[in-house]
Amino acid sequence: MQPTQLADNSLLTDLGKRLVGGSLSDLDLQRATEATPDVAILPWANVVKIGGQSIMDRGKAAVGPLVDEIVGNLSKYKMILGTGAGTRARHIYSLAIDLGLPVGVLTVLGTAVAWQNAQMLQYLLARHGIAFLEPEGFPSLPHYLMERGAVICQGMPPYKLWEQNPEIGRIPPQRTDTGCFLIAEVYGARKMIYVKDEDGLYTADPKKDRDARFIPRISVQELLKADQDDLIVERAVLDLMLSARHIREIQFVNGLRPGQLSAALNGEPVGTIIYNAEFKGRGAQ
Ligand code: ADP
Ligand code: MG
Repeated sequence: MQPTQLADNSLLTDLGKRLVGGSLSDLDLQRATEATPDVAILPWANVVKIGGQSIMDRGKAAVGPLVDEIVGNLSKYKMILGTGAGTRARHIYSLAIDLGLPVGVLTVLGTAVAWQNAQMLQYLLARHGIAFLEPEGFPSLPHYLMERGAVICQGMPPYKLWEQNPEIGRIPPQRTDTGCFLIAEVYGARKMIYVKDEDGLYTADPKKDRDARFIPRISVQELLKADQDDLIVERAVLDLMLSARHIREIQFVNGLRPGQLSAALNGEPVGTIIYNAEFKGRGAQ
């Protein structure tokens, strides 16, 4: 059937006719698609990113109490647990950069490390019936969440070889903070919580600058304007927040302090909250 024939179909809405018959690059047509709000697919799901270097790489001392805290919340909150990559990814990035391999290949390698962390976390939670899902398994994710309260996934977006080049250098720009944010956004999740090893965002990396000041709450617009040299989160997440239709704020808590994750799940303003001051809320419940 020719597109023009479809466009004549009286069952299509006006917008439908324009979409079928017109160019998807047409700015006017793109604007017209704003009118329908996005459905929040899993509005009760909480995406929780477990840091790679900041949590998983610290082994039992950090992971043990956090696993207990996750288990304690299983009956209260539905959690999509994404893992970071961490030190082993940094090692393999250094080798791959030395070998001259492109960003897409580095992303493939980093994904394998986040996958390792997801596997370890899943075996620690297996006795509670918690499953690990690859992106291809995501259609079953709502079922696992309803049944068991949580699922595990690795945090990298599934771009792998298709990862874009960063503006500067060779490090994949969209890593596990980004992958977890994108899951939260597409599902219209209740919360996006990052569990790392600091109390939240500071004016500089508190591990390097003893004068760094804690920032309990800041808008993403102010933070981008401040142009800090280093951040607790991938810059790509801040850029994605600007066009998010569901996720209005993200929260950072210290996973080395028992109770912080639970407090964030309970909606308490612990740690740091980065919010979108110009959020338009184009999602529907
Ligand atoms: P993950 O383990 O989730 O990958 P990262 O190690 O990438 O986490 O990021 C967390 C780290 O970011 C913290 O351990 C901290 O040392 C560092 N960091 C850099 N800049 C800042 C900042 N401005 N505020 C807080 N932490 C920062
Ligand atoms: Mg990181």
